[in-house]
Amino acid sequence: MNIHEYQAKEIFKRYNVPTPNGHVACTTDEAVANAQKLGGTLWVVKAQIHAGGRGLGGGVKLARSLEEVKTLANEILGMTLVTHQTGPAGKVVHKVYIEEGVAIADELYLGIVLDRAREMPVIMASREGGMEIEKVAAESPEKIIKVAVDPFIGFQPFHGRELAYGLGLEKEAIASFSAFAASLYKVYMENDAELIEINPLVKTKSGTFVALDGKMSFDDNALFRHPEIEAMRDLSEENPIEREASEFGLSYVKLDGNVGCMVNGAGLAMGTMDTIHYVGGFPANFLDVGGGANATTVAKGFEIILKDPNVKSIFVNIFGGIVRCDRIANGILEATKLIDVHVPVIVRLDGTNAKEAAEILKNAHIPNIISATDLLEGAMKAVAAAKGEIA
Ligand code: ADP
Ligand code: MG
Repeated sequence: MNIHEYQAKEIFKRYNVPTPNGHVACTTDEAVANAQKLGGTLWVVKAQIHAGGRGLGGGVKLARSLEEVKTLANEILGMTLVTHQTGPAGKVVHKVYIEEGVAIADELYLGIVLDRAREMPVIMASREGGMEIEKVAAESPEKIIKVAVDPFIGFQPFHGRELAYGLGLEKEAIASFSAFAASLYKVYMENDAELIEINPLVKTKSGTFVALDGKMSFDDNALFRHPEIEAMRDLSEENPIEREASEFGLSYVKLDGNVGCMVNGAGLAMGTMDTIHYVGGFPANFLDVGGGANATTVAKGFEIILKDPNVKSIFVNIFGGIVRCDRIANGILEATKLIDVHVPVIVRLDGTNAKEAAEILKNAHIPNIISATDLLEGAMKAVAAAKGEIA
């Protein structure tokens, strides 16, 4: 689960991770009142969406008067913000964060991410703050310092020094940087975060480190331990189809292609998507209907896949291990009675009772259900059907 910048900063404050003062607003009037409450002469109006790159997209702007706060909040609230992380459709801005302006001396990058291969959180730091870190990683990976922290040992002063020396910080800054990193590590561990990113982490003109931006993602499986974080969930930021699927126990991820996929098992689902690519097509989604696939899950699967208007064919690829293929075949027939499946459906059922399943489908004589005997043939037929070459 992801949260907004203003929420990440609320958490930072609880752990004494320095961030500028600020207040979130949903209306222009509230934005101006927030700026007044903050006082000072320089404010930043920041669009709150679950995506980075807001600055470049026009979603982060400096205001030098209350009048300007008003104009900018008015402009940003309700805008569709397009950044390199939102995709071309962009995201509508429902909230702005009004923050005090900070006099920046230096912009750094600091992040913590779970390294699954090392089974440890890794702290990453770079002098290239404010830049797209993915770009830095691709073009000059040596500019990113990585320090893994064994969770049984925890963050130690030597971790802080290793990062600070790697960044080439001057002597006076080392202790305060280390303290900052130690607090951030505590935020990460105590809240079961998967990722924290501060880009930029700035050194102010007075020499202190301040989190100017804040991004946090959490381990969904640990959310039950953190009701106060679960309460920060913003459903308007999540894909509505993915949300509905998760309510029915289906793992669905929308993609940009036109071949809908309904598969049991995440590995087979990945293999199916690869095979569709291999034969020149593009999957419209990842969908794992799980081990206990039945008529209801298959029907729900069809319904979810067909909510995406790009879908031109559906490839059902189910391996009957625990589930029996004849049950799935009957499930498919029942599902087509429950909902209008208006695109060709290519069905490959293999494993337990595959022969019986093939008979059931053949005898049903439904014109838009096309059988396939193996994965490659199924993928080829599904891609051809999506191109309108078979129906
Ligand atoms: P994003 O990463 O989505 O573009 P940021 O929060 O990093 O959004 O803001 C973009 C840029 O705006 C920062 O790199 C920084 O230069 C500037 N900025 C953001 N917040 C402040 C602030 N409180 N004071 C001064 N400048 C800021
Ligand atoms: Mg940023």
